[in-house]
Amino acid sequence: MIDLLEMESEHMERTFLMVKPDGVQRGLIGRIISRFEDKGFTLVACKVVQVTENQAKIHYAEHDGKDFFLNLVNFITSGPVVAMVWEGDDIIALSRVVNGKTNVNEAQPGSIRGDFAAHTPKNLIHGSDSPESSKREIANFFEDHELVKYDKTISSWI
Ligand code: UDP
Repeated sequence: MIDLLEMESEHMERTFLMVKPDGVQRGLIGRIISRFEDKGFTLVACKVVQVTENQAKIHYAEHDGKDFFLNLVNFITSGPVVAMVWEGDDIIALSRVVNGKTNVNEAQPGSIRGDFAAHTPKNLIHGSDSPESSKREIANFFEDHELVKYDKTISSWI
């Protein structure tokens, strides 16, 4: 019989999540972090950062050239953010479900954007959309030694 409590996960991933300036200003840091803790994910790095223009352009490089690019850079540098690395099974896709759709008008109730955001692009939270983006975004904000590897005894029950 397979021992579910001892199974090693092949789906373990890391993702970069960021509480955007609107989330910090609105006092939603704790409630946003709680959503990911409640889901059973593990926080491996976290810091409050004033994003530089250069960092913002690297972060949003895939949107360079689009009409909303400069607004995006201005918004993300408009105040401090909370930059985080989280770990969990299939976390890249699952955390985007927790975040809700980019367009807040389409974000489901129960998601962070569906419950708290009212105007796109002020949609409170960023989450990586692929393993490649996750690596690039983590490296843009963190040194390797800032990521802490640890186990939680509850993990096998999640
Ligand atoms: N955004 C926007 N207009 C658009 C698409 C995106 O203002 O048409 C903003 C929005 O704040 C979004 C961010 O750009 O969160 C990054 O876009 P992406 O497609 O990566 O969405 P996300 O991954 O944040 O849901």
